[in-house]
Amino acid sequence: MRGIMGVAGYPIGHTLSPAMHEAAFKELGLNMAYHAFEVRLENLSDAVKGIRGLGLKGMNVTIPHKVEVMNYLDEIDNLAAEIGAVNTIVNRDGRLKGYNTDGEGYFQSLREAAGSSLEDKRVLVIGSGGAARAVAVTIAKNGVGELVITNRTLQKSENLAETCLKFANTTVLPMGRAQARLTEFDVIINTTSVGMYPETGSMPMSMEMLSRGTIVSDLIYNPLKTRWLKEAEKRGGIALNGVNMFVYQGAIAFKLWTGVEAPIRVMREAVLRNLKGE
Ligand code: NAP
Repeated sequence: MRGIMGVAGYPIGHTLSPAMHEAAFKELGLNMAYHAFEVRLENLSDAVKGIRGLGLKGMNVTIPHKVEVMNYLDEIDNLAAEIGAVNTIVNRDGRLKGYNTDGEGYFQSLREAAGSSLEDKRVLVIGSGGAARAVAVTIAKNGVGELVITNRTLQKSENLAETCLKFANTTVLPMGRAQARLTEFDVIINTTSVGMYPETGSMPMSMEMLSRGTIVSDLIYNPLKTRWLKEAEKRGGIALNGVNMFVYQGAIAFKLWTGVEAPIRVMREAVLRNLKGE
C-alpha cells in the first residue's frame, strides 16, 4: 500500500503528527509518508486542490484552518458538520470528504478513564473554542446525564450549548458559579489553552472545591501534567492528560486513510518520546 498524507496548518513547526504516523507506518511495514505542510490562509484553497491534483491519500488540518477548510471540500461528515470543524480530509478517487476525529478521539480516552458510560454523569466543560466544540458535541451525542459549559466569553458557551441541546441536557454557567459548584460534577474537562507551555503557572479554574474521585481531564499534553492536574491529584482527583486524545484522533484518521487498525501503543510511544525530548 502506497500513499502520502500530511498535516496542514500555520505555524506548523512543533507538530507531533509526523513522528506519530511515521512510527505507525514503520511498525506495519506500510510504504507511506506523512509530512508537515506550512500553509498560510491565503494558500489554503490551493493546498486543498493539491490533495486532489497530487493524489494524496488525505490530510490532517490544524490551527487555524479547521473551520475555513470546510469551504473547499466535496462532502462533510455529519459529526464534523455538527461540531463545525474538520481536522481530517480523506481523498476517495478525487472526492474530498472532511471528518472531525478530535471529538471521537477525546471520547475514547475519557471512556477508558471513566470505565463506564457517562449516561448518569454530570460533566463540566471549561472553554468554548474549537476543541471544546469537538469534545462537548461528541459527549452530548454519546449520551450524558448533564452537560454544563462555561467559558471566559459566555456567548460562545451559549452557541455551543445550542448545538449540544439537540442531543443532551445542557446548561451554561458563568466561570465563578461553575467553580463554586465543583463538587457537583463527576467529570471536569479543561479545553482551554490555559496552563499550556510556556504559560505553565496558570490554571483555568481553582480546584479548592474538588471532591475526591472526580475525573479531571486536561486536553493539554505539553506539559504532560499541567499545574491544574497536579492540584486536582493533591485533592484526590483522577487526572487525565491530552496525550491519549491526541493519539486516538490520529489513530481514527489513520484508519480512515489506510483501512487498517492503527498501532496505538507504538503511536503513543512516539508521541511521549518526542514530548520528553528523547
Ligand atoms: P481555541 O479555539 O483558540 O479556544 C481557546 C479556548 O481557551 C477558548 O475557550 C478561550 O476562551 C480559552 N482561553 C484562552 N486563553 C484564555 C485565558 N487567558 N483565560 C481564560 N480562557 C482562555 O483553541 P482550541 O483549538 O480549542 O484549543 C484549546 C486547547 O486544546 C489547546 O491547549 C490545544 O492544545 C488543546 N487541544 C488538544 C488536543 C489533543 O489532541 N490533546 C486537540 C485539540 C486541542 P475565549 O473564548 O474567552 O477566548
